[in-house]
Amino acid sequence: MGLLDIAIIGGGPIGIACGLEAQKKGLSYVILEKGPIVNSLFNYPANMQFFSSSERLEIDDIPFISKEAKPKRDEALEYYRRIVTSNKLNIQLFEKVLEVQKANDIFHVRTSKGQYQANHVIVATGFYDIPNLLNVPGEDLPKVSHYYDNPHYYAGQKVAVVGASNSAIDAALECWRKGAEVTLIIRGTEVGQRVKYWVRPDIINRIEEGRITAFYNSTVKAIHEDTLEITNEKGETKTIPNDFVLALTGYKPNFQFLEMLGIHITKDEKRLPEYDPETMETNVENLYLAGVICGGMETHKWFIENSRIHAKMIVAHILDKNQKRHP
Ligand SMILES: Cc1cc2nc3c(=O)[nH]c(=O)nc-3n(C[C@H](O)[C@H](O)[C@H](O)COP(=O)(O)OP(=O)(O)OC[C@H]3O[C@@H](n4cnc5c(N)ncnc54)[C@H](O)[C@@H]3O)c2cc1C
Repeated sequence: MGLLDIAIIGGGPIGIACGLEAQKKGLSYVILEKGPIVNSLFNYPANMQFFSSSERLEIDDIPFISKEAKPKRDEALEYYRRIVTSNKLNIQLFEKVLEVQKANDIFHVRTSKGQYQANHVIVATGFYDIPNLLNVPGEDLPKVSHYYDNPHYYAGQKVAVVGASNSAIDAALECWRKGAEVTLIIRGTEVGQRVKYWVRPDIINRIEEGRITAFYNSTVKAIHEDTLEITNEKGETKTIPNDFVLALTGYKPNFQFLEMLGIHITKDEKRLPEYDPETMETNVENLYLAGVICGGMETHKWFIENSRIHAKMIVAHILDKNQKRHP
């Protein structure tokens, strides 16, 4: 492909938005995606419904038509795939970026399949690859999963769902509705306040009715083949029968990858990457961040709705720089 204007790492909604914007503005680019198109969305639960209405997930004002106001995962897959195919975006799938080195102002991008050179790099790698682990004995047992797909699998089984945010609450309700015996293990005092407003009353009512058991102020101490040990804030321990554990305690960006790129990250628990919020350029010149990766450990801060704008900001900044270099 020769020397590109931009190499975009990650083919999620925001990486795709960056590619589309670059193409519209006549810049050469490639999107490098380690999985299928919008890999993270592809791995969301089968029946997942977005909290955003479809027009708020649109890229470049291309209409996103969904059956209900808030689209389902499959509708989002259709939408973003059609953007890629109908605009013939230059995307390389199942090609993982392994290393990026900068020499003489050119980025050398090494992937699982080849090498690319670019004047600018946009990192849009999201945060869905690395789960926050419980770090307890037994977490590596095959019955434990940090991702949830389909409730059918858990019918008739004793399922412990760890977490109190949208992913955990959706999974708990779905599994219970398909005949699982569900126990929720919640570290805090209540179901998360950010749980979708139409789902929160549902789970609270099911808990109050006693159909779903919830342990508040509780964490998992150990996981065994047929049981689970839970401990509360007083240090009291309880052992419950258990077939499966869904540890849905969130995900985090690949900080190692960002550090390899030379991006500064704050030392506090937020682990915020350094970038200029006006341009999205990081402390490494010509290296940009886009999408939910920008939030560090604050993974609730950025989503498609409020980060799709990054594509236009970055491409405008690159064009502006090019203009200044070659007026
Ligand atoms: C369950 C759930 C529900 C959500 N609901 C909503 C919602 O309703 N509304 C909303 O606005 N947001 C929502 N979000 C947030 C938002 O959908 C996602 O975070 C969104 O996918 C972010 O887009 P992104 O392009 O920044 O990152 P991602 O979609 O995560 O894309 C990153 C891509 O980078 C790829 N990648 C990673 N590392 C490499 C590498 N080294 N080389 C090549 N490719 C790589 C990944 O495979 C992935 O495809 C939700 C998130 C979750 C988890």
